[in-house]
Amino acid sequence: MTEVPPKDAPSGLGSPQISFEFFPPKTPEMERNLWDTIKRLAPLHPGFVSVTYGAGGSTRERTHATIARILAETELTPAAHLTCVSASRGEIDDIVDRYHDIGVRHIVALRGDPPGGIGTPYVTHPDGYRSSADLVEGIRTRHPDIEVSVSAYPEKHPESADFDADIDVLKAKVDAGAARAITQVFFDNDLYFRYLDRVRARGIDIPIVPGIMPMHNFKQARAFVTRAGTSVPDWLAQKFDGLDDDPETRKLVAATVAAGQVQKLRKRGVDRFHFYTMNRADLVFAISHLLGLRPGGAQKAA
Ligand code: FAD
Repeated sequence: MTEVPPKDAPSGLGSPQISFEFFPPKTPEMERNLWDTIKRLAPLHPGFVSVTYGAGGSTRERTHATIARILAETELTPAAHLTCVSASRGEIDDIVDRYHDIGVRHIVALRGDPPGGIGTPYVTHPDGYRSSADLVEGIRTRHPDIEVSVSAYPEKHPESADFDADIDVLKAKVDAGAARAITQVFFDNDLYFRYLDRVRARGIDIPIVPGIMPMHNFKQARAFVTRAGTSVPDWLAQKFDGLDDDPETRKLVAATVAAGQVQKLRKRGVDRFHFYTMNRADLVFAISHLLGLRPGGAQKAA
């Protein structure tokens, strides 16, 4: 059932719209690697590229530095992730103002994980933003020209009591001014479509962009995504069986799996994709190619 005509219905204009997510590099070598990745992917003209955020001081600065360099050295549109964790409203407002000053016009606004790690209780900073919706509202009020994206959880967030509670939070973020939601990674497309039906039935009509993660290192990625509430189907685990010491074959399998997932989504009308690149270009470039994207091809905002 789909009560509200989805804005993420196929555009009929050919190429899908894509965006890429990076994390801020910690070492000079990681920095070089990230920039090789950005140079390889930039000619695909993503609608935007986002950079994740960690609440600790040095991670914060690395996000800012990466975003600033993307603005200075490329024609890409950067989107800075930002969370409410461990900071007062004033500190967060300063970060937002600094982004605005250098020309950033897109923020991915999140509550963030509890500072004690996933599974420990989330405690709001006494002077901080109370929730992701509160942060969205704060950013939009301060700088109406900043576009805000938020998260969405096709399997519901692990802290959500049920889907209704989960979608209440998404609705609050949309009411506060979010223009787009990017989903947590998922591997079973039916979960995405069932979630989309629930979201549309609640009258939420912003694009719900599927977050796609090619599993470069299956074991590591499985542990990571499972902690964040994503289920890893047995059929997927079986595809990586026996490949622990065979990174080349693993890479081919990972590309095939992710390409199959996006092509199936595409066949069912999805025409926007957000790729969790893990700062690596090869698989994401190949998957984009299979989606029909070519270096130099024009892209609309994803
Ligand atoms: P929200 O959407 O605000 O909430 C998620 C769920 O938690 C809600 O549905 C609700 O059921 C429950 N919940 C939240 N607040 C309450 C409350 N007060 N009472 C009861 N239940 C509540 N993390 C980072 O640290 N840095 C990043 O850069 C980052 N980028 C991300 C990008 C995407 C696309 C996604 C999907 C996640 C990202 N995360 C990031 C992870 C995210 O911070 C965690 O999943 C975090 O636990 C929830 O933040 P949120 O904004 O998604 O939560």
